[in-house]
Amino acid sequence: MVLAQPTTRGSWSVADSAALYGLDRWGDPYFTVNGRGHVVVHPEGKGTTGLDLVELVQGLQGRNLGLPLLLRFDDILEDRLERLHGAFERAMEHYGYSGNYQGVFPVKCNQQRHVVEELVESGKRWHFGLEAGSKAELLIALSLIEDPEALLICNGYKDQRYIETAILARRLGRQPVVVIEQADEVERIIRASRELGAAPFIGIRAKLSARSTGRWGSSVGDKAKFGLSIPDVLATVEALREADLLGDLRLLHFHVGSQINDIAVLKDALQEAGQIYVQLAQLGAPMGYLDVGGGLGIDYDGSRTATAASTNYSLQNYANDVVATVRECCEPNGITVPTLVSESGRAIASHFSVLVFDVLGSSSVPGAVPPTRDSEPLIVRNLRETLAGITALGHGANGDTKAPERTSEGLQEAWNDAIKFKDDALSAFRLGYLSLPDRAVAEQLTWACAEAIVERLPATGPIAEELKALSAALASTYYANLSVFRSAPDTWAIEQLFPVMPIHRLDEAPTQLGHFADLTCDSDGKLARFIGQGQAKPLLELHPLQPGEPYWIGMFLGGAYQEVMGNLHNLFGTTNAVHIRLTHDGGYQLDHVVRGNTNAEVLEAMEHNPELLLERLRVASEAAIQRGDLKISDARRLMDHLETSLRQTTYLQA
Ligand SMILES: *Cc1c(COP(=O)(O)O)cnc(C)c1O
Repeated sequence: MVLAQPTTRGSWSVADSAALYGLDRWGDPYFTVNGRGHVVVHPEGKGTTGLDLVELVQGLQGRNLGLPLLLRFDDILEDRLERLHGAFERAMEHYGYSGNYQGVFPVKCNQQRHVVEELVESGKRWHFGLEAGSKAELLIALSLIEDPEALLICNGYKDQRYIETAILARRLGRQPVVVIEQADEVERIIRASRELGAAPFIGIRAKLSARSTGRWGSSVGDKAKFGLSIPDVLATVEALREADLLGDLRLLHFHVGSQINDIAVLKDALQEAGQIYVQLAQLGAPMGYLDVGGGLGIDYDGSRTATAASTNYSLQNYANDVVATVRECCEPNGITVPTLVSESGRAIASHFSVLVFDVLGSSSVPGAVPPTRDSEPLIVRNLRETLAGITALGHGANGDTKAPERTSEGLQEAWNDAIKFKDDALSAFRLGYLSLPDRAVAEQLTWACAEAIVERLPATGPIAEELKALSAALASTYYANLSVFRSAPDTWAIEQLFPVMPIHRLDEAPTQLGHFADLTCDSDGKLARFIGQGQAKPLLELHPLQPGEPYWIGMFLGGAYQEVMGNLHNLFGTTNAVHIRLTHDGGYQLDHVVRGNTNAEVLEAMEHNPELLLERLRVASEAAIQRGDLKISDARRLMDHLETSLRQTTYLQA
C-alpha cells in the first residue's frame, strides 16, 4: 500500500531513515547509515572503522555465498566483553569495591563452536568463563576452558555422572562449580564426593521471592522451576556441614530471568540475595563468589523503557547497582565482599550477528479502478457510486478542511456500503447471477474504496477501529527468502521484537507499508511486528521493489538464542554464516565460513536417504522414457535439477 502522506523524495535524507527505523537508538554504537544510504557496521563501536553492509554482502555473493546470510562480527563479541568488564571495573572503582568481577558466558545462548571459541579466546585476559546447563554444554565448557582461574558454572539438572565429571575435572586444572539447583542434588554430591574422595566447588541457587516482570518473569519467585527455597537452603547447609563439605560451599547463585526490563526488579533481587550471601557466610561457609545470573537486557526498540522489548537501564547502571548493593549488604555485617560473577548471555551475544535476507517479490491488493464498460450490473454500478462518494469527501488528511469527525463518519458509512455491495456481489456470484469478470471488477472496486478511505483518514480526531484495521489489510506483502522458524524463531514463539530494516536505499523515502511473509507454507511464517517507539507496529515502511534490483533487509540483534531454537519447518535448513574480522587496513577478512544446510542434509536429518530418493526417481523416469512419456533429454534435465538441489542450500537462488 502507498503511504497516505507521501514524503517528497527530494527532502528525504539518510538521517530521516535512521530516525524512522530507530537505528539511532537501538543501533548505537555498532550501526549507522552512510551517505549512500547503506547501513554501516562498526564492529569496534562508533567512530571506529565501518564496513558498508551492502558492499560486504556483495563481496560475499562474489564468493558464492548467497542470501540469506548470517553475518557474525567477532570484533563485536570482543567489544561486548570489553564493555561488560569495563562497566564493572568502573563501578568497582566508583564504589570502592575491594573484590573482583569475573563473568561467564551461558553456553545455551549460542553454542556455535566458533562463537564459544571466540569468547573464550578474547575473554582470556579477564579469566572469563562459561556456564553450562546440560552434559553436552558441560563437555564444551570443560574442553574449551584451560585457564585454571576461569570459572565453569554447572547449572541445570544433574545426575551422578554429571556431578562426578565435574569433580574429576578439577584434577585437570579446571574450576567447575556445581550449583545445587534441586534439593535432591545435595545427596548426589555427597555420595559422589565420598566415592571419589574429592569434592567439587559447590554453589547454591536460591529461589528468590523478589517479583519479576516481563516474559521470563516466571523463572523467579516461589514457583520458579529452579533453585532452593530458603528452608531448602538451610537444610542443604546442614547436610553439607554433616558431610564435612561446608568448606567447599563457595558460591551463591540466583537468576531473575532473561531480559530484565526494569532495574527495580534487579535491585530487589540483589538485596535479597546479598542478605542470603551474608547469612551463608555467617553460618560458616567460606563463600567468596556471588553469581547474579543472567538477565542483563537489550534495548531492542531503543525506547529505554521498562517494556518487553526494552530496558530502563544501561549496562553501566546495571553494573553500578550490582556492585553498590552487594557492598551495602556485606560491609555493615563485616563480611568480605565477594567476587561478583554474572552470566550475561543476551547482553554479550545479541549484537554480533546480523541476518540479511532478500525479498523475492511483493504483492498488494488489486485496487486499480477498472474502466467502466457498457451495461454493468447494478452491484458494480453501486460500488462505482460509493467510490465516487468517497472521492468527493475531500482530498486526504493533508488538504482536508472539513471537521475530522464528519469526515470519519462519512468514511465509515461509505465503507459499510462498500462491504454490503461486495457481499451482494459474492452472493450473486454463488447463485450464478454474476460473471467471473464482473466479480473481479467488484473486488477491485471494493479495494479501491478501501484505499480511497485510508488516504482520507483524518490526521486528528477519533478513527473507528475498523477503518484503522483497513490500513493493515491494504498493506503490501513482501516475500522474504527466509524461514522465520529457522532464523527468527522467537518472533513466532514468544512475539519477540527485533529491529528489521532495509540495509540500502535509505536515502530514499520508503513509500510503502508492508510486512514480510517467509518461504514456509505456514501462515505463522511471517514478520508482522516491528519496533515502534515503545509500542510494536504491525507494518514497516518499505520501498517499492525495482525490477531487476535486489531489495535487502537486515534483522539485527538476533545473536542470542535464535540459532539453536530455530527448527527445520518445511525443511528449510541453516543459512550460510560467515565470521567477519576487521583487518588493520580498514578492510575485513573471513575467519570462518559455515555453509548452510544442503537439501541432502535436511533430508538426512529426517532419516531419509537422498541417494535412495534419487534412485527411485531415476527408475521412475526410465519407465517414463520406455512408455514414451519423457524425452531422454528432459529426463536428464530432471535428474540434473534434483542432483544439484541436493547439493545446494534449502533457500531460493537469486
Ligand atoms: C538462560 C540463563 C542465563 C542467560 O540469561 P541472559 O538473559 O541471556 O543473560 C544465565 N543464567 C541462567 C541460569 C540461565 O538459565
